[in-house]
Amino acid sequence: MLLKKERELVVEYGKKMSSAGLSKGTSGNISIYNAEEQLMAISPSGVGYFETVPEDVVVMDLEGKVVEGDKKPSSEWGLHTIFYVNKPDARAVVHTHSTYCTTFACLHMPLRALHYVIGGAGTATVPCAPYRTFGTPELAEAAIGACNKGKAVLLANHGLLTCGPSIEKAFGLAVNMEFCAEMQYRAMSIGEPVILSDEEMDVVMEKFKSYGQPKKDKEEQKSNCY
Ligand code: 13P
Ligand code: ZN
Repeated sequence: MLLKKERELVVEYGKKMSSAGLSKGTSGNISIYNAEEQLMAISPSGVGYFETVPEDVVVMDLEGKVVEGDKKPSSEWGLHTIFYVNKPDARAVVHTHSTYCTTFACLHMPLRALHYVIGGAGTATVPCAPYRTFGTPELAEAAIGACNKGKAVLLANHGLLTCGPSIEKAFGLAVNMEFCAEMQYRAMSIGEPVILSDEEMDVVMEKFKSYGQPKKDKEEQKSNCY
């Protein structure tokens, strides 16, 4: 079986995403990219996260050709591949319809630096890409264009996308973005949120580079992030 480890991780993190309440029903999708093989393992379309087994995970190349797997790949495969093509350090992409991120996406409103953990996205503001139909190349183009140098982007009237150097990081970022969106919602409900300055956020982002335990792996060290 090609990309066995990656397929198992897609299954494991699909369950985590569902259990964490980040994706209701079959919404959202996950992929992991193996740069050596130049292949991506992506969740199947419309299959419940607790029903998915590694054999259901589809292996594709970055041109969208299915290399192994009987199931239809996620309808957002093009949204995932465009991030790997444009971000050479990306090894995983997580897409959710999580409640608070999607609330702001429905308002076409970016996430602002109300809380310092937003710095995990690599930018002080998480932008919102313009609305495009799900599962289209137009959505993929809009998302990568708005995301620019960051690791997270809201998709208007749709949800959130994060990427990272590993599935642990991309998933952790999706969790933190949902926390930031919830704080923004709550703060805006009772007052005028105070936004951290770009200078303060630069300090945070620098500090995130050495956050946590030192990494043994050279690649991981290079891309250490919150
Ligand atoms: P898939 O089940 O095809 O991955 O679609 C879910 C989704 O979130 C589409 O945007
Ligand atoms: Zn979606």
